[in-house]
Amino acid sequence: TNNMYQQRIPREKSAAMFAEALEYFPGGVNSPVRAFRSVSGPPLFIEQAKGSRMQDVDGNVFLDFCCSWGPLIHGHANEYIEEKVMKTVVKGTSFGTPNEMGNRLGKLILDNHPYVERLRFVSSGTEAVMSAIRLARGVTGRNKILKFDGCYHGHVDSLLVKAGSGLATFGTSSSAGVPESVAADTLILPLNDRDLLEEILSKHAHEIACIIVEPIPANNGLLIQDPSWLKCLRIKAYKHNVLLIFDEVISGFRVGFAGAAGYYDVKPDIITFGKVIGGGFPVGAYAASKEIMDYIAPVGPVYQAGTLSANPVAMAAGLAALELCLTPGFYELQAEKTHAFATALEAYAREKGYPMHVPHIGSIFWLAFGTDRITRSDQIDPANMEYFKMIHHELLQTGVYLGPSGYEVGFISGAHSVGDLEEAVGKIKAAMDVAFA
Ligand code: PLP
Repeated sequence: TNNMYQQRIPREKSAAMFAEALEYFPGGVNSPVRAFRSVSGPPLFIEQAKGSRMQDVDGNVFLDFCCSWGPLIHGHANEYIEEKVMKTVVKGTSFGTPNEMGNRLGKLILDNHPYVERLRFVSSGTEAVMSAIRLARGVTGRNKILKFDGCYHGHVDSLLVKAGSGLATFGTSSSAGVPESVAADTLILPLNDRDLLEEILSKHAHEIACIIVEPIPANNGLLIQDPSWLKCLRIKAYKHNVLLIFDEVISGFRVGFAGAAGYYDVKPDIITFGKVIGGGFPVGAYAASKEIMDYIAPVGPVYQAGTLSANPVAMAAGLAALELCLTPGFYELQAEKTHAFATALEAYAREKGYPMHVPHIGSIFWLAFGTDRITRSDQIDPANMEYFKMIHHELLQTGVYLGPSGYEVGFISGAHSVGDLEEAVGKIKAAMDVAFA
């Protein structure tokens, strides 16, 4: 295996910088997956990027399918976004006051998103989810929340929770530092178990503030759900009088301007946003009807605030990014390119008898191992991650960058040309030949 992971590209400078970073940051990183623990070699230190490609400090160039974990729907250093940011940044970066850029981004979103009437900007997806949960609790006066196994909602205490024993359980914390008393307020159900959902809601609805779901679960592989189940969630939430939160930090403005809510035509009560909404800057938001959002301070009793919230630079970046998203045909084109890319890989896997398929939706894709459709996280065989490790390594050698974990999805941006994608298909096929040899 040592031979198998031999480096054919220079990584000395990245290795040296990582050794230095280990002196500063736990595990050498500021977010855990970046440490490359489940793939080979030191993490790459990226120096610059443009369009679909990024270059590391050793001079290697990669076609990038991580896209900063989703925000970069127009690729790296998009000129339109860059120009708006530059024009704004010279006028001051933050005033701690209302500003026109915030109005403009707010208006653009509300004018074009049919499911929400008011929103509040924050600075990350985690903050959006944390605030949305507090809002749901404030509106209902209840403490418990219901989430699904296989969905990730950021590092919010009450959501860093895994299922206890049994089918539907009050959770136990999945991170040190999260009190069991907090975890105990989170109920966890498997995705798409309608009978169990009904059973739990009939027993516990009076103490449940909200159901939170990633309508397109994309943090444990890409677990594309049956649309009728999302409709079922909506109906059950109405029936049992609990709020429904769609966590659209990944799917929002990604599978369409109105996200998964628009894609499936299901109206949740609260939606959380992140990633694409900030055009590459730290922005999140939560949004709902006017009635629900009026529970937020200073109108209502639910407190939520932020020093850098809606700062003009981040708003300018978000505004430029979302304006580009509204270009007619933008989403259709990204979905077409992604479909062609994924089906070319699947056809090759079929032809060769390789146990791999490529679930995809909009411009999100996942390299899935095995041949059966995967819709729940417990259907992922951890042993197959060895395939991913080999494919990831091979692709680094040939100039393609995937997020450094087989549980992570890939993203295709407006900057990925058809030629880029054909190049990637050729290289991924070659990597598959190595992994499945
Ligand atoms: N919710 C979902 C669905 C996410 O995918 C993520 C991040 O990947 C988050 C919340 C947390 O967002 P952030 O990393 O910006 O805090």
